[in-house]
Amino acid sequence: MDCIFCKIASGEIPAKIVYQDEKAVAFEDINPQAPVHILIVPRKHIPTVLEIEEGDGELLGHLFSVANRIASEREIAGRGFRLVMNCNREAGQTVFHIHLHLLGGRTMGWPPG
Ligand code: 5GP
Ligand code: ZN
Repeated sequence: MDCIFCKIASGEIPAKIVYQDEKAVAFEDINPQAPVHILIVPRKHIPTVLEIEEGDGELLGHLFSVANRIASEREIAGRGFRLVMNCNREAGQTVFHIHLHLLGGRTMGWPPG
């Protein structure tokens, strides 16, 4: 499959991996938007949030627990951080393999742009 995040998860394309296990991989975003900007992706190819199924609940929960662990390691847990999952064009999704953005290390604006 011609999917950049599947290729990063399989090791075919290099990335700065910060965490991986049998279900998920986390790596530094190539174009960081904050001092901490890490992408947490399931190994399973799910194109957008719209393709998430009932049976994916445990996997999705796992992505959040990986994000929490990294936020603690990077010492942004107490200060605060943002988790974002964009869906389709108007939200700005550019890679069609779901990924949780973990953003932190600066004050975030609201509403998001
Ligand atoms: P989206 O816009 O789909 O929510 O987020 C895609 C993110 O993936 C962007 O923040 C972009 O910088 C990042 N990205 C795109 N291609 C690569 C890549 O090849 N390697 C890494 N590490 N990040 C990428
Ligand atoms: Zn994929």
